[in-house]
Amino acid sequence: MFDLQSGRVALRFGDRSLTHAELASCAGALARRLAGSPRVAVWATPAIETCVAVVAALLAGVPAVPLNPKVGERELAHILGDSAPASVLAAPGVELPAGLADLPRLDVTLEGGDGELPAEPGAEAPALIVYTSGTTGSPKGVVLPRRAIVSTLDAIAEAWEWTEDDVLVHALPLFHVHGLILGVLGPLRRGGTLNHLGKFSTEAVTRALQDDGTMMFGVPTMYHRIAEEVGADGELAAALKRARLLVSGSAALPVRDHERIAAATGQRVVERYGMTETLMNTSVRADGDRRPGAVGLPLPGVEVRLAGDDGAVLDEPGAIGEIQVRGQNLFTEYLNRPDATAEAFADGWFRTGDVGTRDPDGYYRIVGRKATDIIKSGGYKIGAGEIENALLEHPAVKEVAVTGEPDDDLGERIVAWVVPSGDAPAADELSDHVARLLTPHKRPRRVRFVESLPRNDMGKVMKRALGT
Ligand code: ATP
Ligand code: MG
Repeated sequence: MFDLQSGRVALRFGDRSLTHAELASCAGALARRLAGSPRVAVWATPAIETCVAVVAALLAGVPAVPLNPKVGERELAHILGDSAPASVLAAPGVELPAGLADLPRLDVTLEGGDGELPAEPGAEAPALIVYTSGTTGSPKGVVLPRRAIVSTLDAIAEAWEWTEDDVLVHALPLFHVHGLILGVLGPLRRGGTLNHLGKFSTEAVTRALQDDGTMMFGVPTMYHRIAEEVGADGELAAALKRARLLVSGSAALPVRDHERIAAATGQRVVERYGMTETLMNTSVRADGDRRPGAVGLPLPGVEVRLAGDDGAVLDEPGAIGEIQVRGQNLFTEYLNRPDATAEAFADGWFRTGDVGTRDPDGYYRIVGRKATDIIKSGGYKIGAGEIENALLEHPAVKEVAVTGEPDDDLGERIVAWVVPSGDAPAADELSDHVARLLTPHKRPRRVRFVESLPRNDMGKVMKRALGT
């Protein structure tokens, strides 16, 4: 999966770093201790030890389950019961919660060693079990084979012209696909460098990009912070301008944030679309048109289609349907959930539960999630994202989430949950603004002003937590 021979820095976390060769040595030593174990958990703090632990498990052919170090008691119990790891790997000195007390602990050290490694397992062997973000329900354990990881990393490398000379900068958590598979295993497979910032701040981004960073990965909440500050922060703007590629994913990047960053830096953020079950599906290419609100073309080796409610494939331009995916990038199964696994497929295609459209030139746009973002009102199917983007164009709106709630006449009515940028404007003013920009039936019937939106650790709005 990795070459790990060069003397180039592979991982940098603050003032601690490892070259590819050093990583091979210390992860190899740990891999020999793990060999033969059925499955291990990794206490995934944002630290170099987490990367060493995951690489060791991959070298040993032992499936690893990364755990969110902020996980609550109940979710931890669910994940441990579901995935049944034989031990937990953690950095020395890091305190583990009571829920992990029954598991043998292995300290991850950076000490190296030589010796034979176990033979690399086959392409279909489970490599990682990653739990979904839990945006729409309780997290599901997604079994990812080596084949899916390798094919997705090679596909994005091709699309993003990613080489060993790239220094990737990010501050993402290391227990989801975005931060761990793309953000750690990506640079390792390329032979390049990861500079992990520990904690996101625009100052840290500025320094890292001024220093030697060439690419950045982030979630929309990070780009939102950048968009808020970049107009008044010349140093941040100059640093972003220097970067070769800024990539956003995990949720939709609001058009307004894309435009504000472009206006201040001349740099257009590249959006890609993926999920735990499928790794990466589509992306704007490094040399492609960086169109706001679009997630680009299917990646090499990935087939994408749109399907209507009756399952029929929709080919006509402008059609709106469920995004379905097939390819080398797909997971094997949901752990212990044969029912959910079977339900997720329609004749070999994975049903993402996301709804999208295709531009005439093949670019995809995400309309939203079937479960929470498609509002059925007055006989229309309305995507929440379009209304959210329209509301964000109003200067009094800082953040927004749009949902549907039951309505006797309309079936559902549109509700806008608004975090105002200053004094709350009149609700009608916002509703009129949407009706004027879009069409009258997309007008929010109710506007609720809130101090903040409920978000999970990836910054995704948890719409099911927005009461009515
Ligand atoms: P759960 O499945 O537990 O409800 P989740 O779907 O948020 O949580 P992930 O697998 O981390 O868990 O996220 C994948 C989802 O994130 C996609 O199905 C899609 O809805 C959303 N997503 C990812 N990238 C983008 C993007 N660029 N634009 C819009 N949505 C995106
Ligand atoms: Mg999901």
